[in-house]
Amino acid sequence: MRQFSVLGLPVHIHENYRDWLAQRLQTNQGTHVVTINAEMTMQARKNPALANVIKQAELVVPDGSGIVLYLRSQGEKIDRCPGIELSEQIVQIAAEKQWRIFLIGGAPKVVDTVAEIWRNKWTDIAIAGMHHGYFDAAIEQQICEQLQSSQPNLILVGLGVPRQELWIQKYRYLCPNAVWIGVGGSFDIWSELKTRAPEWFSKNHLEWLYRLYQEPWRWKRMLSLPHFVWCVTIDSLKPKK
Ligand code: UDP
Repeated sequence: MRQFSVLGLPVHIHENYRDWLAQRLQTNQGTHVVTINAEMTMQARKNPALANVIKQAELVVPDGSGIVLYLRSQGEKIDRCPGIELSEQIVQIAAEKQWRIFLIGGAPKVVDTVAEIWRNKWTDIAIAGMHHGYFDAAIEQQICEQLQSSQPNLILVGLGVPRQELWIQKYRYLCPNAVWIGVGGSFDIWSELKTRAPEWFSKNHLEWLYRLYQEPWRWKRMLSLPHFVWCVTIDSLKPKK
């Protein structure tokens, strides 16, 4: 595993993330997977707690085009690893091996739909539990108890950035041997509530544009993209130690 730094945050490069993670699952090695993009790095600059979690995560994969284009501009021959695809591959392996999976996040009913779709696809899948992502402190306590008693192998948390990263860091001690992945809005896609950008967009590093078309209210958040370009340009002009 090679590690690079993007604005002081780690990004891990591996030729086969899926096999690496499957091995971690198989051997019960607690792992936090962060799928990083430009927007997240910009958030981390303002939020030291988020920056810390990213630095401590066992695996940080280059999810966003901005990260990949930046690393390529530094001479690294790397490709994107979309978190949603990696998570799906891991779910498939877990389903086949009957490793226990726990789903947390999304609007009410969304994870129920995901579970139903997955149970139809992989009849042996072992879903240990699930909860939507809009809960109060009392329900959170119940979720934690369920996590602790069911000891799932794979825990997918889709509460948005930075909540999901901070949530995983706070509660991973409950299931120290599990693989925890912050999956953002992936439950919305898996439940077919939303659709992913057609391949043309992602091939041309324009997935963000499709997202803006689907969710125009995100425009303000997207200003972090030009800000990212500005920050990495300034950073690359600094003399290297
Ligand atoms: N979400 C949630 N609880 C919250 C806020 C958000 O479960 O309190 C879910 C929301 O329903 C969506 C996901 O978190 O499924 C956030 O998706 P988004 O695409 O905004 O993720 P991000 O870009 O922040 O990774």
